[in-house]
Amino acid sequence: MDGGVGYLFATVVEAIAMNTTKSPMMSKTATNGSGHGSGGAHAPPNASAFADTAPLATTEDRPLIYVNGKIVPKSQAMVSVYDHGLLYGDGVFEGIRVYGGKIFKCQQHVERLYRCAEQISLKIPITPREMVQVQRDCIAANELREGYIRLVVTRGYGTLGLDPRRCPTPGIICIADQIRLYPEDAYRTGMRVVVAKRPKTPVECLDPRIKSLNYLNNILAKCEAIDAGCDEAIMLSTDGWVTECTGDNIFIIKGGKLFTPPPVCGESGLLEGVTRRFVMETLSKDCNITIAEKMMKLEDVLHADEVFLTGTAAEIIAVTEIDHTDGKRYLIGGGSAAGEGPLTRQLRERFRTIVTSEAVPED
Ligand code: PMP
Repeated sequence: MDGGVGYLFATVVEAIAMNTTKSPMMSKTATNGSGHGSGGAHAPPNASAFADTAPLATTEDRPLIYVNGKIVPKSQAMVSVYDHGLLYGDGVFEGIRVYGGKIFKCQQHVERLYRCAEQISLKIPITPREMVQVQRDCIAANELREGYIRLVVTRGYGTLGLDPRRCPTPGIICIADQIRLYPEDAYRTGMRVVVAKRPKTPVECLDPRIKSLNYLNNILAKCEAIDAGCDEAIMLSTDGWVTECTGDNIFIIKGGKLFTPPPVCGESGLLEGVTRRFVMETLSKDCNITIAEKMMKLEDVLHADEVFLTGTAAEIIAVTEIDHTDGKRYLIGGGSAAGEGPLTRQLRERFRTIVTSEAVPED
């Protein structure tokens, strides 16, 4: 079994999965003693009822989704309304890319998931190795070559009221699907972003290094961007330091050098993005660009030669215009160069070369 997880497939699911490459493990119907199969402590009380009584699934029921020990069609992938992930945003998650059937930086994502879970005192009931296997099985079940995985670990099914002790078993979800955040041509032209008026939650209140299900601070800043007719917002700490964007890290290029804010900036901080780390540790070296973490004020970003954002879903995307809270619009690089700057392009192209190669890093 190689550290795998036994899944219970409902008959109906078996039927629609017929033309998928099913790993031997995936057709197992018994729990494997991890308490993680259907009917085990891990499944919410009504989960198997959904799977057993559901109408015959169609191909529109893709993707097949892992929920609490089972792989089921999208229409049947449900969690309890008593799950504290839903009731209180109590849980953690990861967004992960699949390139050429490989899980990009799988180890770093899984490590971050377990680290974040520990930081909110959430004990994930399967091992990191099993968590990797869950992803591989979702990829296989959906015959995914290029795509995006969403891993979610919730506090689990509990009672009404905040008390996490009333949630004995965390919930686990793995969705292997597609994602597109920004329009294709924005990667060439660069994008416009706003500076959010709403500051980022201080570290003392909730450490932004924790990728928790509690994203309301970011969502409300994102709404500011949407209201201004764009897709992303730069978020400042309460004491005015640039932290990151609502779902992306931020980099600037000044005088041929690359800078990005440190994990803690003033009162707040940022998510230590896997893509951010890949830029810092690999792409900048490959492209011979010096990189440093540096606390930045908004002026540093507004007067940078180039600005770009990084994230698993966004990958690497240039910012060419910034709407300040003072109502002024700033053109990055003085507006002289239209579109993506030359070093951003170099980094993005290097990124693309690696993720389309045979050697997509899973470490
Ligand atoms: N910051 C925030 C707030 C995020 O949600 C994300 C992930 N979308 C990132 C940064 C980028 O992190 P990663 O490169 O690991 O996706």
